[in-house]
Amino acid sequence: MKHLTSTQIEALTLQLNERTRALAARVREELAASDSQHYRDLAGAVTDTADEALASALVDVDTAIIDRHVIELRDIEAARERMRKQTFGSCIDCGDDVAYERLAVYPTAKRCLRCQQQRERTYAQPGRPSL
Ligand SMILES: [Zn+2]
Repeated sequence: MKHLTSTQIEALTLQLNERTRALAARVREELAASDSQHYRDLAGAVTDTADEALASALVDVDTAIIDRHVIELRDIEAARERMRKQTFGSCIDCGDDVAYERLAVYPTAKRCLRCQQQRERTYAQPGRPSL
């Protein structure tokens, strides 16, 4: 992530934090509206603060509604992990820098645009957005 300035990294971290908060709020709403007492209890445990452990806390939740959110939370967690390991912003396929312009729109991007497009051509599956 040497191609990113500390200001850019800060901006991306902020974005990841905000996205986590927004997702946590939605997950909590959906759990609270569930028919299951277990899920309603869990809703209380899902705080609206940025929480890296959130995805793990939701690991035994299998409602289709929140599945998408949990997948995104895991992606965010993985992005944070890459930041810690200083590999954030490097394409996992070719190792090239992922442009800041791309990360600004999509901070959890694991691949550069070229590799992502390549992958989408190879694994095109309608209705399943590839990350
Ligand atoms: Zn690449």
